[in-house]
Amino acid sequence: MKSTRVGIVGAGQLGRMLALAGYPLGVRCLFLDRGADTPGAQVAPSLIGDLENPVLLAELASRSDVVTFDWENISGAALEPLENITRVRPPRAALEVSQDRLAEKALFTRLKIPVAAHAAVESRAQLIQAAEKIGLPGVLKTRRLGYDGKGQYVLRAAADIDAAWQAIGGAGLIYEKFQEFSRELSLVGARSASGQTVFYPLSCNTHGGGILRYSIAPFANARLEQRARGYLKRVMTALDYIGVLTIEFFVVQGRLIANEMAPRVHNSGHWTIEGCVTSQFENHLRAVCDMPLGSTRALGHTAMINFLGVMPDRERLLAIDGLAYHDYGKAPRPGRKLGHCTILKRLPKERTKALSNALKLVEWA
Ligand code: AMP
Repeated sequence: MKSTRVGIVGAGQLGRMLALAGYPLGVRCLFLDRGADTPGAQVAPSLIGDLENPVLLAELASRSDVVTFDWENISGAALEPLENITRVRPPRAALEVSQDRLAEKALFTRLKIPVAAHAAVESRAQLIQAAEKIGLPGVLKTRRLGYDGKGQYVLRAAADIDAAWQAIGGAGLIYEKFQEFSRELSLVGARSASGQTVFYPLSCNTHGGGILRYSIAPFANARLEQRARGYLKRVMTALDYIGVLTIEFFVVQGRLIANEMAPRVHNSGHWTIEGCVTSQFENHLRAVCDMPLGSTRALGHTAMINFLGVMPDRERLLAIDGLAYHDYGKAPRPGRKLGHCTILKRLPKERTKALSNALKLVEWA
């Protein structure tokens, strides 16, 4: 049978893991990204140039049965012409909503999914008003292009307003109430064009400086899992979604508060490569290529640790039983996601012990 051709906008580690998951399925990926030595280009062919270059995007689309994304911030205007050439999945509307924190919260609210109290901020005066109305502490964020804690400022007291404004002040901001959460959880799921949905077990995520450091999964809480699945399914249905979709939640006094969504495979789902029957990467490809979705059943108890800024001692980590190592092939830079490892164990207590041993070998820079 002829292989299925998938075009991927962006060739970072997510694209790389998609391409690697594609080979056994007979899916061949082609990337578009700026560099010749991106994580994706190391494992599959790549067009080289700007991600919004209309000529290159059209070439990518014409050489693909479906176009999908490693990077979701491509503008709707750049994407629209591709829809006349090939299928674009997930749908453009999903990308557009997720590009704007305010639009995302409006969608969640319309679907009766709880979010933090928030207000749009376009000026310093509006920030003062928002902090008074919503209260302190709070977080000032850029509505667009913020990720991994970038473009965010935590305000503890009214005296922080000036510093916050100096740090990220301008138009296009959102102020939200600081959530005193007990945990951060995320739910990854997939939906196909026929409306088939599958959901992974919940991941419990620990961040440092706004970047994911490690996750443990499955996070066993039947009540929260059922709730989260209901919320994710509502968003998928509302957007007529195709592909993998993730929602990140805060747990505040036992309730889920949605923080944000990602219309793609997610860092907190990397554990599914070794930890589930079908990984998030394979299910994303299956969904966008109209294949039946695969089982999301967990194979044991896992922990995933991100390598940030510096790579750890590979040999010492590999000596831990049940550990899988992933190097994204990137040059080290402070705060940059360079790789991850996943530990798979039969019992939670074995996982916890191996996680604590592995954490001693990983430093975040
Ligand atoms: P985000 O870019 O919105 O995913 O934020 C990155 C991280 O910053 C989150 O995972 C939280 O750890 C923290 N954070 C963001 N928004 C809030 C909030 N409203 N209250 C408390 N912590 C937050």
